[in-house]
Amino acid sequence: MRICVLRETAPHEHRVSLVPQTVARLVAAKHQVAVEPGAGTGASFPDAAYLAAGATVAGDRTAMLAEADAVLAVQRPRVEVVASMRPGAVAISLVQPATAGEYIAAAAARGVIVLAMELVPRTTKAQTMDVLSSQATVAGYQAVLLGASRCARLLPMLTTAAGTIPPGKAFIIGAGVAGLQAVATARRLGAVVSAFDVRAAVKEQVQSLGASFVEAGEVSASAEAAGGYARELGQDQQARVLAAIAGHLPQMDLVITTAQIPGKPAPRLITAAMVATLKPGSVIVDAAMETGGNCELSRPGETVVESGVTILGPMNLPAQIAQHASVMFSRNLQSLLEYLVKDGALVVSPDDPIAGPMCLAHPQSPTPNSQPPAA
Ligand code: NAD
Repeated sequence: MRICVLRETAPHEHRVSLVPQTVARLVAAKHQVAVEPGAGTGASFPDAAYLAAGATVAGDRTAMLAEADAVLAVQRPRVEVVASMRPGAVAISLVQPATAGEYIAAAAARGVIVLAMELVPRTTKAQTMDVLSSQATVAGYQAVLLGASRCARLLPMLTTAAGTIPPGKAFIIGAGVAGLQAVATARRLGAVVSAFDVRAAVKEQVQSLGASFVEAGEVSASAEAAGGYARELGQDQQARVLAAIAGHLPQMDLVITTAQIPGKPAPRLITAAMVATLKPGSVIVDAAMETGGNCELSRPGETVVESGVTILGPMNLPAQIAQHASVMFSRNLQSLLEYLVKDGALVVSPDDPIAGPMCLAHPQSPTPNSQPPAA
């Protein structure tokens, strides 16, 4: 199989879809890998590392795309990419289906198969291919480091000749994959950590990481939807959640918000009035910014200071730790490719339990998926 690795073109995207270590594994399995020049530079993998792993660094992009059986990228490539691929070849990347109409139409017209990495089913069998989880892990870690670096106070307790500094207090809202990693990271930095989530199952996981769980009365019983995700809350439940968060915020030094609902805008959990109750010098990191944010005052990619509280709205947190985020993304892709390759060739059936739900365009499937799974 001929695999092609694209250089990312989206602003601030430093990751690469395949890292040299994975390339070496694929080459050992008798696949050919061609990498666009500079594809790994943003993730600190020079072209020489790809050459050493057995890849070619392709000078002729058109030929590389025309020959490829699989074209790999982190973010959805430009439309011209699928239009230049051979019919029957497969394009694999994050796609952001809601805004990918033109891309999917171009792929379908060309007979190219499109697999969206964010649609890997969240089942035990597909766990090793789950980029949402691997990248959320990196995001949760980075959110805490960003916030700690902007906080006016230290997080660890320090006993020094210049006096004793009490430990900082960190509050993590939304304790899914990113949130639990944020809990663990804030604990490692020495903060006293608390967390909140609407899903009942999360309480034990939070406590097992040494953090306390903030209760919001009877919210949890009906807050969990299929697949372990949260559902949108009713008005009463939302009011209880806001009251529980509002009661907890004034003591906090660092707040990380990661709450999301699949296919819906992120729930609004910190109002402007609640921000004003935080101590000056505190920081909120809105790690749900890409789906609209959890804090009323956060702005995409910007830093807002209000009542002495710094509110960060970072976009694409995993790309800020590009090397390890790429290593994990690459392992997810390797696992998917190994699953799809039969007798040395890529076989993508729309009926496959893993590839089927990921297919946004497929010559054998007249009605490909176009939406993420419902909550
Ligand atoms: P996510 O990114 O969709 O949401 C993050 C968190 O926000 C979730 O824990 C959710 O409950 C929480 N949330 C939503 N609304 C909220 C609100 N109003 N207030 C507070 N918190 C709110 O979720 P995720 O982190 O991608 O994953 C969630 C769950 O999916 C996991 O905990 C797990 O059960 C399941 N999962 C399964 C697999 C697998 O089986 N392969 C992999 C990953 C995740």
